[in-house]
Amino acid sequence: MIAVVGGGITGLTLGWELEKRGADYVVLEAGSRPGGVIRSAEVEGRILDWGPQRARLTSGITRIVEEVGLKDEVVEAPSGLDLFVYRAGRLRAVPFSPGAFLSSDIVSLPGKLRMVLEPFTAGADPDERVSEYFTRKVGRELYETLIAPLYGGLYGSDPAEMRVGLSLIHVLREFGVRRSLLLPLLRRGGKVVPPAACTFHGGMHSLPRSLAARLGQRLRLDAPVRCVREAGSGWALELDGEVIEAESVVLTAPAPVTAHLLSEVAPRAAEKVASLRYNPLAVVHLHAETDLRGLGFQVAFSEPDLALRGVTYNDSLFGRENLYTAYLGGARHPEVSDMPAEVLAERAKKEFKACTGFDSRPLSVEHERMPAWDISWSALQGLSLPAGLRVAANWWSRPGLPGRLAEAERTARALTGAPVRDEAHA
Ligand SMILES: Cc1cc2nc3c(=O)[nH]c(=O)nc-3n(C[C@H](O)[C@H](O)[C@H](O)COP(=O)(O)OP(=O)(O)OC[C@H]3O[C@@H](n4cnc5c(N)ncnc54)[C@H](O)[C@@H]3O)c2cc1C
Repeated sequence: MIAVVGGGITGLTLGWELEKRGADYVVLEAGSRPGGVIRSAEVEGRILDWGPQRARLTSGITRIVEEVGLKDEVVEAPSGLDLFVYRAGRLRAVPFSPGAFLSSDIVSLPGKLRMVLEPFTAGADPDERVSEYFTRKVGRELYETLIAPLYGGLYGSDPAEMRVGLSLIHVLREFGVRRSLLLPLLRRGGKVVPPAACTFHGGMHSLPRSLAARLGQRLRLDAPVRCVREAGSGWALELDGEVIEAESVVLTAPAPVTAHLLSEVAPRAAEKVASLRYNPLAVVHLHAETDLRGLGFQVAFSEPDLALRGVTYNDSLFGRENLYTAYLGGARHPEVSDMPAEVLAERAKKEFKACTGFDSRPLSVEHERMPAWDISWSALQGLSLPAGLRVAANWWSRPGLPGRLAEAERTARALTGAPVRDEAHA
């Protein structure tokens, strides 16, 4: 039997991949609902999401959506929506082609001309900071305006605290970047076209809910794992008033919980995992009547006084009328984790007005946390776990939803070595 600890998207997808392979497994979720950080609810007639606001329709997401029967529930964003950056008093559209870059107001003329030097600068050094790498490649202005908010925004991190070898190098490889960033982009015709953004009619939570329905009795809610011990050639998991024995255990819970569960069976690994940092984020949903259209905006790093990191335009993305989702905090404004809801609501309202010019009314305030993927990740180098214990988690490999699905699939393959049984997911 395989025991999966955690019923967020990673644990649920892993369960589904094991189900398809006919494996004997159980997914143990501490909470009373599946999905982990993916959470949606209806407020004033609109669906609000507190975790991810959208997924990208990559091949992995498309496949799982079809397998769990969610295809008809998909709401795709209209194509051609702009993304914006707030800098020096206004929102500026992010250019996605060389032509658009040259004619844009995203950075000054010297900032644009600086790009000419890029192909002559050295390639990535795994030991340098992400901020140093991008600054010497594209110059400080473009780094602060575009790259720091977009790349750092994925983790709520400050790239000055991130190491190339720990968080960026795999992305560069994926895009075929060796020395120059610009040349592979130009070889692709100069355009960056990410897969379409999507959600579901019932919000992002529809995906974990549909996966959970496929797992049936194999998913156990309200089943927090308190401790993992060795038991013969396998493992014993202690729950409240119950012990489950398993040959293999996969830990998908957040790093602090995983560190606790490893403390008895792998104390050195537990110490390393416990040292990983998380960034605090506040998610504030705003009701605003605006003529804003686009994906949303990020705030340039040259605006250090704003705690606002970015805003998603749920209105134009998915037709959720007058709904905007503001993210505040991250590595540069950790004080948000101590702010009460009323203070955060006021701050979000004030900074939304400063960036867009529009008044708004806060609908909800929640505190979240993101694995920082910063220099504290050096601790994971050389980490080893006893045979039969594995980790598959958003602090272990890529945190985005496509990365979560891919890791779940890889883990299921490694655990079973079994091909997918056709009849299991017909
Ligand atoms: C605010 C926010 C916005 C995001 N936006 C995007 C986005 O736009 N696009 C994107 O691709 N990704 C986004 N992400 C990242 C992505 O959503 C997450 O990385 C992913 O959902 C994490 O899933 P997970 O299953 O690995 O972890 P989690 O969702 O953290 O799930 C872990 C589960 O383990 C359970 N658990 C904890 N302790 C125990 C225990 N002792 N026993 C049993 N179970 C336990 C928890 O209850 C939880 O359900 C965002 C994340 C956040 C927080």
